[in-house]
Amino acid sequence: MQTKLVLLSLVSSAFAAGQYGQCGGRGFTGDTSCPSGWSCRYSNDFYSQCLPGAASTTTTRPPVTTTTTTTTRPPVTTTTAGCAANTLTVTPAPVTVTAPGNVVTITVTAATTTTTRTTSTTSAPVPTGKATFYSKCKQPNTLAMTFDDGPAGYHRKILDTANAAGAKVTFFTNGKLYNCIYDSAATLYEAYTTGHQVASHTWSHPDLTGLSDAGKTEEIVKVENALKKIIGAKPTYLRPPYGSSNDAVLTVAGGLGYRAVVNWDLDSQDWNGLTPAASLAQTSFTNADNSGHIILSHENYQSTVDTLLPNVIAWAKQKGWKLVTVGECLGEDPSLWYKDVGTPSTRDSTWVC
Ligand SMILES: [Zn+2]
Repeated sequence: MQTKLVLLSLVSSAFAAGQYGQCGGRGFTGDTSCPSGWSCRYSNDFYSQCLPGAASTTTTRPPVTTTTTTTTRPPVTTTTAGCAANTLTVTPAPVTVTAPGNVVTITVTAATTTTTRTTSTTSAPVPTGKATFYSKCKQPNTLAMTFDDGPAGYHRKILDTANAAGAKVTFFTNGKLYNCIYDSAATLYEAYTTGHQVASHTWSHPDLTGLSDAGKTEEIVKVENALKKIIGAKPTYLRPPYGSSNDAVLTVAGGLGYRAVVNWDLDSQDWNGLTPAASLAQTSFTNADNSGHIILSHENYQSTVDTLLPNVIAWAKQKGWKLVTVGECLGEDPSLWYKDVGTPSTRDSTWVC
């Protein structure tokens, strides 16, 4: 119980319940993420929000529909070479007749060709039409702290606090929400080069499900182009604003080379402002087993930086858990977190929001 409390005393109550009412999506643990007296109302398979009051029968999340997509691998091509039968060559020697007796010499030469059958198997590439949706870690005993909506005021302190503790975190950064991404170039580059994960939260934080495919693409490409200049690489991980996603988002993201669309299974509710009792209620499942967790938080709240992050670090240390990036908690090699990896650019007149 004590370990719970460490994590639970996290969040400030300075911020009123607001527009970022997020409590999960497909694969989410359930309504426990909402404060006491609130309930999680289903919006779509990827997004639900906490609203005051109990869920009514018409707003309860409907059963999750599991869609199984069967992809048939193209036939394996097998090439068989050198399958000829062994050859035996018999060459009769000339028959020599010598009186008074015949002497017949027969020389039989058996030339045997041994052929080794060779088989070449060609594996067809696995189709990668969509990014994969995640909301939970795959690695046990890991916590992936994620900071959305930056760059914002506390980016530098998050980095310093995490580095001092030997922790790795993930920044899902916007291009322009609170601040302009180019104005935080140095800390983003430092985060990237020191093993934290820098990923996309879109350029301007729209609900992607409300945009056309062209609109989705623009939001994703614009921030990755900025990151290419700043850190020298483009991310392959995306967190959709408001956790709002659907098949079209996964398809557009996948088409742009994104591997992962990532929500969370533990909402710090730093955006929502909880009493300690409400925090206790919504995070109590963290001790249920050793499953890793992806924790949603935001880098624009001082309480997140001053209270939540140190408490999570302390909790992890006490429990012997690791604070890792989202990529690590999903078991993906760091080389997969980015695409188009090169070198950063020198700041020029294009570095504007
Ligand atoms: Zn956000």
